[in-house]
Amino acid sequence: MKLTVHDPATGECLGDVPTATPTDVDRVVAVAAAAYPGWSAVPVVERARLMFRYADALERAHEELAISVSRENGKTIADARAEVRRGIEAVEFACGMPTLMMGDALADIARGVDCASFRAPLGVCVGITPFNFPAMIPLWMIPIALAAGNTFVLKPSPQTPLTAEILARIARECRFPAGILNVVHGGIEVSEALIDHPQVAAVSFVGSTPVARAVQQRAVAAHKRVQALGGAKNFLIVMPDGVDASIDAIVASAFGGAGQRCLAGSVAIAVGDAGDRLAAGLVAAVAQLRLGPGVDEATDMGPVVSAAARARVAGYVERARAAGASLIAGGDDAPTGGAFLRPTIFDRVDPVSELATEEIFGPVLAIVRVATLEDAIALANASRYGNASSIFTRSGGAARTFARAIDVGMIGVNIGVAAPMAFFPFGGVKESIFGDLRAHGRDAVAFYTQQRVVISRWPS
Ligand code: NAD
Repeated sequence: MKLTVHDPATGECLGDVPTATPTDVDRVVAVAAAAYPGWSAVPVVERARLMFRYADALERAHEELAISVSRENGKTIADARAEVRRGIEAVEFACGMPTLMMGDALADIARGVDCASFRAPLGVCVGITPFNFPAMIPLWMIPIALAAGNTFVLKPSPQTPLTAEILARIARECRFPAGILNVVHGGIEVSEALIDHPQVAAVSFVGSTPVARAVQQRAVAAHKRVQALGGAKNFLIVMPDGVDASIDAIVASAFGGAGQRCLAGSVAIAVGDAGDRLAAGLVAAVAQLRLGPGVDEATDMGPVVSAAARARVAGYVERARAAGASLIAGGDDAPTGGAFLRPTIFDRVDPVSELATEEIFGPVLAIVRVATLEDAIALANASRYGNASSIFTRSGGAARTFARAIDVGMIGVNIGVAAPMAFFPFGGVKESIFGDLRAHGRDAVAFYTQQRVVISRWPS
């Protein structure tokens, strides 16, 4: 069996990958498990040195990776280049593992007794990743897990598996020891076989909320360590003094990647009298966006990932129109021949409607109007998601009130996409995450290691 990948802009066949059977999963996990004792015994400085080589090789392959991402996912080449950059930064972060893995020590915790803690790897770690960042999200996991001394099995999204093959090929070119990095392809059955496998110690997942919840529950039931990052509904709050500076940032946030980012701003909350200027500015700005294949440098917005995704997003637009929502941009008339949708904006959206509460994951922005900042924060905090939220204002007081009261993991002040870089943790709260530790940064070091404590007394 194999998975065939199509360019969502043209329908062209880009290639295929083999689907793993349960026997393949067993074999690959056995390979990763066999590589673990040798790899975990390699001094951390040498493991870090391999990550320096990997970062360098990925840098040389930057454009090849960006083109692969753009073609199989549909996002613009500029977005794809930025995604690969973010991924390489995670490898660079992992190069600091000798320092990151350090523990603590304290002499004389009692008379003649010393105590030291150190971090040890876990074993075979698994990564299950979504379609929307085919390079970056695997690279949130692979380098940190490996530099910490684990071996790794990646199961990329069946919609965008080709970039993962390039990541694996570059690892081979860097002479990664055999068995430390493995890729298997497939859908639910392959994920479940990996999560259930007795030789797998930990599972990192990024994807939608229902799947994140299921993955976390399954892994916990099997007594595995698990971090499962889920979906999002991100609110961008625009104060009357922040409208002008918000327009370009909101357009980039809502329509970048055709709205298929977990950090996409999908509800703009206009406070006080900001609404009319905000709506007019956004409508004028999206009229300038050129749709086309992502690999075309002139394209501002590519297609969504597939015809099925296009139909799903179009369903939200249809239902909102049928319910009487006020469509002020897009909604129809996208180029044919690919999975294109026009940037779509609804104004005066009912804050409890489907449009304002559900993750649509497409180029659809809802504008909701409220009277005060407190109303805006209350509306955002009522969401079951809690990934990211931003405020646009010139007021330090408003920004501070917002940053203290908003219940999300990633908070932006005059930033459309509040993305922390590799040395900070990435993740949300509420139903945007299942598990305690976030992606990359020190959280990932904690996730991929276990603490050991040595308490010693020596006779004098
Ligand atoms: P998805 O949940 O459909 O799939 C993600 C991965 O899980 C894929 O590899 C898929 O094959 C696998 N999978 C599907 N069903 C499964 C099951 N029942 N058990 C185990 N594995 C299963 O997500 P997607 O459509 O590929 O990605 C988009 C979603 O990812 C959005 O909801 C988006 O918000 C989210 N996302 C979140 C973050 C974050 O940092 N929180 C980042 C990127 C994407």
